[in-house]
Amino acid sequence: MTVENIQGEYITFTDGKYEVPDHPLVGALAGDGIGPDIWSATRMVLDAAVAKAYAGQRKICWQPLAAGEAAFKETGSYLPEATLETIEKLKIAIKGPLSTPTGGGIRSLNVALRHHFDLFACIRPVRYYQGVPNPMKRPGDLDVVIFRENTEDVYAGLEWAAGSDEAEELGAYLRDKLQAKVRPGSALGIKPMSPEGSKRLIRSAIQYALDNGRKMVTMVHKGNIMKFTEGAFCQWGYDMAKAEFSNQIISEADLWDKYQGECPAGKIVLNDRIADAMFQQLLLRPSEYDVLATPNLNGDYLSDACAAQVGGLGIAPGANVGNGIAIFEATHGTAPKYAGLDKVNPGSLILSGKMMLDFMGWNEAGTLVEKALQAAILGRKVTYDLARQMEGGEEVSCSSFGKLIVAAME
Ligand code: NAP
Repeated sequence: MTVENIQGEYITFTDGKYEVPDHPLVGALAGDGIGPDIWSATRMVLDAAVAKAYAGQRKICWQPLAAGEAAFKETGSYLPEATLETIEKLKIAIKGPLSTPTGGGIRSLNVALRHHFDLFACIRPVRYYQGVPNPMKRPGDLDVVIFRENTEDVYAGLEWAAGSDEAEELGAYLRDKLQAKVRPGSALGIKPMSPEGSKRLIRSAIQYALDNGRKMVTMVHKGNIMKFTEGAFCQWGYDMAKAEFSNQIISEADLWDKYQGECPAGKIVLNDRIADAMFQQLLLRPSEYDVLATPNLNGDYLSDACAAQVGGLGIAPGANVGNGIAIFEATHGTAPKYAGLDKVNPGSLILSGKMMLDFMGWNEAGTLVEKALQAAILGRKVTYDLARQMEGGEEVSCSSFGKLIVAAME
């Protein structure tokens, strides 16, 4: 069925703003492996939250989209052109995990989607939900939103195998022309980082902080060693903020010298930390951090480390956002051994759905989803992954957990 045949209206994106009608068409990619199980529970929860929050005035018109193994069987392509064209029209989509096709061609469907739509910001909010088993004494102290650059740095995929003609030729160039010490026979990778790519990521982190009443944006980098890439990321961030947010940004020094450590209303602190120190800080003084803006690799490690700190690796939500297209996704993989067993935790996709509702401006529904998930966890009837670590926890299926979340909205 084409989009045109489905009731509902398109979300539009004009002058940097999304306009969401009351019956928006939203893309839904169920994904591979456990994807269909968690998508079905997620859809039930999101539909219930929207119906309850807006008393039936609003409803999402889901547009199922083919990708992954099912799409390959049907069309011979893991990521059919029709799916890409439809996402382009719909602007907002939610997706379950996709398996990485074997046999070459596409490196990863997720990476392909990010590159195709230039989804430059990977956004991962990390906070604690009471009752989730975790390794920390005060897990509730951590409440951060990580903005990770998605298109540059080591993610750009510019690397050549040891001994390949390309690596030998590039190695010779580096030795001969740039006097770089590169051993013959080395594998080589390139880490490109541009002012444009860095600034747009940091800009969206600052804008998010301003829009959501957050108080600090911390740029996390390894600029003490990699001065022209990681160090420049941070400097470009300060330059951009000075040019574009001069009335809203204060420095860390000013926070203490002028404002006695209390960030004034309507302003945010922009500061930076060296990546390795940041890992310590987030363990020892997590409550001091808020929104983080990172190049790709730092953000990769930090977002999983933070999620583990609150015990939420299995329920961590995420989104990949570009200029006018946003895809919300479960952050775990397809867990193929559990495919079709109605067993796994749908929490990651459900919380990604909550992010999506907030992103659409449907915050009342988003808040309902989050509160109901919290209540369901406290009820201790949870999926196997939580039940096995929870004292007095009772295991329920994926779909039953979804139903318990819906029941908690009443
Ligand atoms: P995985 O699918 O994330 O599964 C690893 C383990 O994590 C599972 O065996 C399970 O642990 C636990 N787990 C994952 N999702 C869970 C859930 N919803 N509820 C409860 N437990 C959950 O990682 P993988 O086995 O390395 O990857 C499998 C495939 O997924 C690969 O093809 C990979 O490329 C793909 N992948 C896709 C994405 C994506 O689409 N965003 C991300 C990562 C990987 P236990 O065994 O302890 O129960």
